Amino acid sequence: MDFAPRMSRFKPSPSQIASARVRDLQAEGRDIIKLTAGEPDFPAPDHAKQAVIELMDRNEIQYTPVNGTLAMRQAVRAKFKRDNDLDYALDQIAVGSGSKQVLFNALMATVSSGDEVIIPGPYWASYPDMVKLAGGTPVFVLAGQNEKFKMRPEELDAAITAQTKWLMFCSPSNPTGAAYSQLELRALADVLLRHPHVHVLTDDVYEHLLFDGREFATLAQVEPKLFDRTVTANSVSKAYSMTGFRCGYAGGPKDIIAKMSNMQSQSTAGAGAMGQAAAVAALNGPQELLAERAANLQRRRDILFEKLNAAVGLSCDLPDGAMYIFCSCAGAIGKRAPDGRIIETDTDFTMYLLDAVGVAVVQGEAYGLSPYFRASFVAPEADLIRGGDLIQQACAALS
Ligand code: PLP
Repeated sequence: MDFAPRMSRFKPSPSQIASARVRDLQAEGRDIIKLTAGEPDFPAPDHAKQAVIELMDRNEIQYTPVNGTLAMRQAVRAKFKRDNDLDYALDQIAVGSGSKQVLFNALMATVSSGDEVIIPGPYWASYPDMVKLAGGTPVFVLAGQNEKFKMRPEELDAAITAQTKWLMFCSPSNPTGAAYSQLELRALADVLLRHPHVHVLTDDVYEHLLFDGREFATLAQVEPKLFDRTVTANSVSKAYSMTGFRCGYAGGPKDIIAKMSNMQSQSTAGAGAMGQAAAVAALNGPQELLAERAANLQRRRDILFEKLNAAVGLSCDLPDGAMYIFCSCAGAIGKRAPDGRIIETDTDFTMYLLDAVGVAVVQGEAYGLSPYFRASFVAPEADLIRGGDLIQQACAALS
């Protein structure tokens, strides 16, 4: 088969290669501690599950409108008002099979050859590939540990050209957990106000996973003048532990939302009826569980953080949110493992951890910044403790 040229615009993700190695080792009978989870491990809320059962009892499981059921768009509208002070009309709301599809639709509907999309890094590995699939060019603005993994206003300003179509923004971030304060967003908004041709595609999926009393803010809320050129994407996946329900949504300018809907109408059509019914129940239901779950994850963050920072050659800061620690392994680079191999890159380091002590993490290269690795603290506390101890042992064995 001759494959379409667009398929050569992206390569298999390094995290998939690492996952394949984990599967191989497990098939050999090795016990692997996985610090790689990209989804919370809490159950979906009971009222969300109940809503699906009731929907099925009523047999209301036909096709849904492409832009989402009325109940879903109303729930999203109320959510944006309640949580973000954003007032979207019903025709300014898109609903898709996860925020991933919504982000993809926005790019596919608007980006063409020559267009640039600014992606602050380290970034979620899907962003650059989505931009490339749409025919655009990703422009990375990388920030390391010294900058707390956050893009500074002057760096954003310097990255903007006449070709810039979007700033693709994520806070709290996957993979770093870095969250921008209201003040930091204000400074970025000031830059954006000077460049009226730049649109903002903000991915707020980790909104409710914020620690140490931090408050969430999003760009269109911080600067209402950006409202007309911002698409604010979110989903029930991470907030309510409902990844498999595949329900995401966005608010944005009516013309962009309509084109996103057209795009979706010729791919998957309306999101699944069951996912939307569950999402409506989650968005309209009691919200106390969000803070309880964030507090639970914060405790697990603290356990892993202490373990990693005590390892020779590793250094990390406490992440503000999300579910990940992005840890520097600079101190391990250039060292020799007991089996003789030299650790030259973060990929070498993560492979060494896997082979030597059976702990899986993802190399920073997958997210655009080396030498780091991403460790997820969505794992049972016992695994975080044992995994952390094993990482310390592996680091101590390097010479
Ligand atoms: N955005 C970020 C930053 C993510 O990490 C993920 C999932 O890992 C998604 C979006 C996709 O989430 P969903 O499509 O389940 O809403």
